[in-house]
Amino acid sequence: MFIGEAPGAREDESGRPFVGPAGQLLERILEAAMGLQRSEVFIANLNKCRPPGNRAPEADEVAACLPYLKQQVELVKPEVLVCLGRTAAQNLLGSTESLSSMRRKQHSYNGVPVVVTWHPAYLLREPSKKRETWDDIKRVNQLLGRPEVPPPKG
Ligand code: URA
Repeated sequence: MFIGEAPGAREDESGRPFVGPAGQLLERILEAAMGLQRSEVFIANLNKCRPPGNRAPEADEVAACLPYLKQQVELVKPEVLVCLGRTAAQNLLGSTESLSSMRRKQHSYNGVPVVVTWHPAYLLREPSKKRETWDDIKRVNQLLGRPEVPPPKG
């Protein structure tokens, strides 16, 4: 199960998470690094509405949506949770640490292993971080007992 931050404009229009450019990158990551199609994973957002101007959700907005997300996790019963970006990771894990420090650590939420990695929208702006996401997804594959996928050339 992958958890992003909040819908963007495209997601608000379609009512589905991660359908814009960040979603296209997420689908490429799923295919290239995990050999999975989007239909084989559950993708959710921490916040269920797009914050004005696409800003990060504020504390009261997170508080309104977090119980819904927690219930989604309970229903989906994921083998592994992947937090995409700082907002999802900090709020799910109740942490104030930076993303770079969280992504190097092992976490769990209600007994489910949690892997923290860069948000795909950030990777679109900072492609040099894709390598780190590749390493994080390798850990997801290990947790799922999935075969290692060789890194892409170039
Ligand atoms: N960014 C998110 O965090 N979620 C989406 O659904 C789209 C972009």
